[in-house]
Amino acid sequence: YGVPIASSQVPKQVRASGSLSDRIRVCVRKRPMSQKEVRRKETDITNVANRRSIVVNEPKVKVDLTRYIEQHSFVFDEVFDEAANNEDVYRRTAQPLVESIFTGGKATCFAYGQTGSGKTYTMLAEQTGLYVLAAKDIFTLLELPQYSHLFAWVSFYEIYQGQLYDLLNHRKKLFAREDGKQQVCIAGLAEFDVDNVEKLMQIFEYGNQARSTGQTGANEDSSRSHAILQICLKHRRNPKKVEGKFSFIDLAGSERGADRGETDRQTRMEGSEINKSLLALKECIRALDQDSKHTPFRQSKLTQVLKDSFIGNSRTCMIATVSPNSGNSEHTLNTLRYADRYVSCRCSICKLIL
Ligand code: ADP
Repeated sequence: YGVPIASSQVPKQVRASGSLSDRIRVCVRKRPMSQKEVRRKETDITNVANRRSIVVNEPKVKVDLTRYIEQHSFVFDEVFDEAANNEDVYRRTAQPLVESIFTGGKATCFAYGQTGSGKTYTMLAEQTGLYVLAAKDIFTLLELPQYSHLFAWVSFYEIYQGQLYDLLNHRKKLFAREDGKQQVCIAGLAEFDVDNVEKLMQIFEYGNQARSTGQTGANEDSSRSHAILQICLKHRRNPKKVEGKFSFIDLAGSERGADRGETDRQTRMEGSEINKSLLALKECIRALDQDSKHTPFRQSKLTQVLKDSFIGNSRTCMIATVSPNSGNSEHTLNTLRYADRYVSCRCSICKLIL
């Protein structure tokens, strides 16, 4: 093991169309208008111009109350319109990363965006979420004779207010620490061995219930926490050593980090913690993008536990999810500005922020 697999050895259905050369790819997915939005007669203000660009037609009002449209145009590595299904998204985002975990790599897929924009639908949906589609390919590869020494383990935890909770062990509080080799490990994290998708989905379902109905009730709304589902490949004879890892992350709603004039102390604290972690994530992605020597992992619990997603043999894909409707234009623009690595929008506000 550790020897790259020749493409011809990989089952055809697992072969990906994307390139493995990019360490970081940022994609955007636009969801369809919901029935509610259609009933409210809202308009779709987003237009996927081609496979790499998205245009937002922002409705604005001048001081003399005349209305006008400001156009913002962004370029990404890949843009998916409302017609794309999870299979299409998978093929061009997570699938190109699957092979890398069989050669000791760490693959990470994030969904970033406003609550209701499709993060969970993309990443963790039952049956069709990216994690299920990737797991199918992982289990297919594990059947190859050259990987008979490997086994898959799953863990599922969340980060809420800078604290880790094990979703597969009664939301037990967990602590991350760095060992002598500066590897981050989470002491006592529950892990289950899995060799088929049905079992994986059962484990996920169990953890997902813990996510939305936390014992204290403090985390009844899952959009306030980051959920991290990891599939680790380990050697059968040395289960302590991680050979490769795929992390699927459903981030807290990006609007939760914004200053919404919250008066409730708890909600304000949640907001500032989410803000801190999303900013730290952006900094780490930027460092990865620029091949920087220093990556600011320690700025948040999220980036600390994902340290190995940003260094060494790692591949990361961020999927920014956006809502299409006019009522969410501000959140949609914020998401696209956050994700924009090409400084592509030339509007005055984007130029100022990016
Ligand atoms: P988030 O996790 O960002 O809060 P969800 O994934 O829960 O958002 O999506 C909100 C709603 O929109 C759900 O009802 C979901 O089924 C629907 N939805 C999201 N993305 C899509 C899509 N690409 N196609 C169809 N429905 C979608």
